[in-house]
Amino acid sequence: MSAEKQKSLEDCETLAKKQKTEEPAKDHLEIINEIKQSRLSCASSSTKRFKFNKKRVRVLSEAMDIPDDADSIIYWMSRDQRVQDNWAFLYTQQLALSFDLAFCVCFCLVPKFLDATIQCESLNIHFHVLLGEAETVLPAFVKENNIGGIVTDFCPLRVPRKWLSDVLAKLPEDIPLCQVDAHNIVPCWIASDKQEDGVRTFRKKLQVKLKDYFTQFPPVNEQKQSAKHALEPVDWNTIESNLEVNMDVKEVAWAKPGTTAGLCKISEFCKCRLENYNDLRDDPTKNNLSQISIQRTILQVFKFKRKYEPSVDAFLDEAVVRRELAENFCYYNENYDKVEGADDWAKETLKDHTQRQMVTEGKMHGFLRMYWAKKILEWTNSPEEALEFAIYLNDKYELDGQDPNGYAGCMWSICGVHDQSWSERSVFGKIRYLSYNGCKRKFDVDGFIAKYKEK
Ligand SMILES: Cc1cc2nc3c(=O)[nH]c(=O)nc-3n(C[C@H](O)[C@H](O)[C@H](O)COP(=O)(O)OP(=O)(O)OC[C@H]3O[C@@H](n4cnc5c(N)ncnc54)[C@H](O)[C@@H]3O)c2cc1C
Repeated sequence: MSAEKQKSLEDCETLAKKQKTEEPAKDHLEIINEIKQSRLSCASSSTKRFKFNKKRVRVLSEAMDIPDDADSIIYWMSRDQRVQDNWAFLYTQQLALSFDLAFCVCFCLVPKFLDATIQCESLNIHFHVLLGEAETVLPAFVKENNIGGIVTDFCPLRVPRKWLSDVLAKLPEDIPLCQVDAHNIVPCWIASDKQEDGVRTFRKKLQVKLKDYFTQFPPVNEQKQSAKHALEPVDWNTIESNLEVNMDVKEVAWAKPGTTAGLCKISEFCKCRLENYNDLRDDPTKNNLSQISIQRTILQVFKFKRKYEPSVDAFLDEAVVRRELAENFCYYNENYDKVEGADDWAKETLKDHTQRQMVTEGKMHGFLRMYWAKKILEWTNSPEEALEFAIYLNDKYELDGQDPNGYAGCMWSICGVHDQSWSERSVFGKIRYLSYNGCKRKFDVDGFIAKYKEK
């Protein structure tokens, strides 16, 4: 890397360190304002008139119509915990506006799952945290508050799918429930109707469909119609004392919560790291990845296509194609976290043959995750055990754990999913092997070890 590039990376690191408060640094205001403007400019005059692509929505209930005497519509927020840049949130608002109904958000918090915070008050949208299993608390809330319909988001994983089918079974028969995929650019069920073998076939299918779905988000506007039911203030102390979560994984210092901090991360990535993304993305000592949730980042990064073409293409391939391929894998393969979910060639070969950065920072570099999981396969008694350990550690320590990317990543490393068979070697059979010398050729292994050595 040239001295000039090294210097610009160091300047950017200093800027990132300064970014400690909610107030955005001046350098990031430009992108933050640009994002606000692009939302406004695609919205025409109101969310109601914005032409929502209805192909993003599918009705899951038998009921199709909102009852005439309903008061409000709910967005049952589950996976996509954000107000702006969320197609499920926008669709609920559009529905509420077209039927002159109020709009409220419900988040069901089971004691052993994750917590969520959000501020909808300034938009006149009630935000309710319902404590308990969704199948119990949500239908009860619908009945008590004369709710006319539910919109929810999409997740291909087993547990949230079960929550959804349980809620559907217990909802009053005349209440429609529909789903919007707010996580993928092309809704998972439209991208492909089957489990895809690999990235090449999937990329082709996705490219054809992207033109209809890769679009700007309008803003969520203030809701004119107020909900009739009372809004109990969220009692965070009771919620916290009800949680049964494992507290031995410590908070990390580098990731700041909140919209402003998130937008600053996007700005930091576009200004400082995107240019070199293509050259440095596999180097864990350079920390040159995006580190941010993806829907808004993709739109923002796309604007730099002319300026940094190879990096933008490489980034979009990871953030769109690989990410949506992981969703496809988990959606169509019910064994997405088991050796049985692998292709036959991989199952056969596995049968015939037999982490400090993650713990302290809650995020292991993408390239190292592959090497790390391959090592677990090498050091355990069976592929089943390797997969179990890799998924357990990944979901416990990675901030982005419990995600289709994680299951697809572990299955890629240990069971050859989305990969091809390679020449046979001990322990791995035909599963791709990654060597220590290969790592040394890619990055400064000693420097990386020195950085994360126990002090
Ligand atoms: C064993 C193993 C475990 C993994 N566990 C997880 C996990 O728990 N959660 C998770 O989100 N990702 C996981 N991945 C995929 C990948 O390593 C991370 O998404 C990436 O490191 C996130 O860093 P970033 O956002 O800074 O990446 P960037 O390089 O900036 O990529 C941008 C986005 O592209 C997507 N992406 C990048 N690489 C991949 C990939 N290989 N597969 C699918 N999508 C990708 C992600 O959404 C990412 O946020 C795992 C990979 C492996 C091999």
